[in-house]
Amino acid sequence: MDVTIIATYRCDAHCTMCHAWQHPTLPAEEIGVRTLERVPSGLDNVNITGGEPTLRRDLREIVDVLYPKARTLEISSNGLHTDRLESIVRRYPGIKIRFSLETAGPESDRIRGEHDGLEKKVTGLRRLKELGATDLGFAAVIQDASADGIVELYRFARAEGFELATSALHNGFQFHKGDNRPHDPARVARQIERLIEDMLRTFSVKDWFRAYLNLGLMAKTLGQSRLLPCTAASDFVFVDPWSDVYACNVRPDLLLGNLETGSWDDILAGGVADLVRARVRACGQNCWMVASARAAIRSPRLPSLPRGAPLRWVVANRLRVALGLRIPFERYVDYAAAARDSSGPVPVDSPDPAAEGMPRVSQTDRYASSGPYLNT
Ligand code: SF4
Repeated sequence: MDVTIIATYRCDAHCTMCHAWQHPTLPAEEIGVRTLERVPSGLDNVNITGGEPTLRRDLREIVDVLYPKARTLEISSNGLHTDRLESIVRRYPGIKIRFSLETAGPESDRIRGEHDGLEKKVTGLRRLKELGATDLGFAAVIQDASADGIVELYRFARAEGFELATSALHNGFQFHKGDNRPHDPARVARQIERLIEDMLRTFSVKDWFRAYLNLGLMAKTLGQSRLLPCTAASDFVFVDPWSDVYACNVRPDLLLGNLETGSWDDILAGGVADLVRARVRACGQNCWMVASARAAIRSPRLPSLPRGAPLRWVVANRLRVALGLRIPFERYVDYAAAARDSSGPVPVDSPDPAAEGMPRVSQTDRYASSGPYLNT
């Protein structure tokens, strides 16, 4: 199972596509190390994120608790405070670190409300590499203002020896956004096509499967259904700064319980978890968030291996690229869907957590200002 720990909602970037920074948590109320000790061992990917996790003064202690519990421990950071990661990297050189960066040009600062972000992040990752870090990279949200530069960013990252993780515009209660949507989905999707082709041309197996993840981003951008069913609350969960455990970060009605007041096993094995999983199976939000896409691609029996469908897609299209043939994207995505989807937001699944007999826990009210979580 993957677990995302939202360590804080404090953040000193001012992104246009995530408004968590407008709703900062108080340090005193943020999930503590003692509570994180209740997270079980044997997890696949644990991602410490925010807000901006490096604003937590006790980040090093959080890592000490979580590192032994996961196959991969990740820190997702805005990359503006590399100095706060140095002692962590010295102790855990295998830790995965991703700095958010939208392009290798000035657009990134405009999207993220930062100053000299590119220089700080590149210098920062280079410094961490010098210190011995082995799993470093950028993370980009592909959107109208950055799509034209996404291939350039990928090539730049590769030239530096860094990875590039990508996502698409989404809406979700945990980032207080309900109006993210591409203005020109077809143009954004065409740029993702170029990125997929570039990734498949490499000799990196990791990037071949990232190419498949990006195919899902094309579908999402064009307003189509998910490539694979979502397994939220079974294969991944989110823990927020108030220790509330949610199936995902899109729907506030998928609250499983609270880690301060309940044990991990009770939260994930009780009747509420069954109800939440039933809702996930019926979920009509066509999201392809990183956590949900990564989990969906993994084999349910052997999580370090992919499912059959992504594997077949990768083999067939890697071969095509090797033979100089084009990838028949029209077989997998429907550009006409973007035009059909331009009429406006789709209805929410269930905006009221009390609907269908779901328990309403007071912590959910903390997100009241997030508005509808239209994931269009
Ligand atoms: S598909 Fe539904 S349940 Fe799954 S992550 Fe998206 S909103 Fe959550």
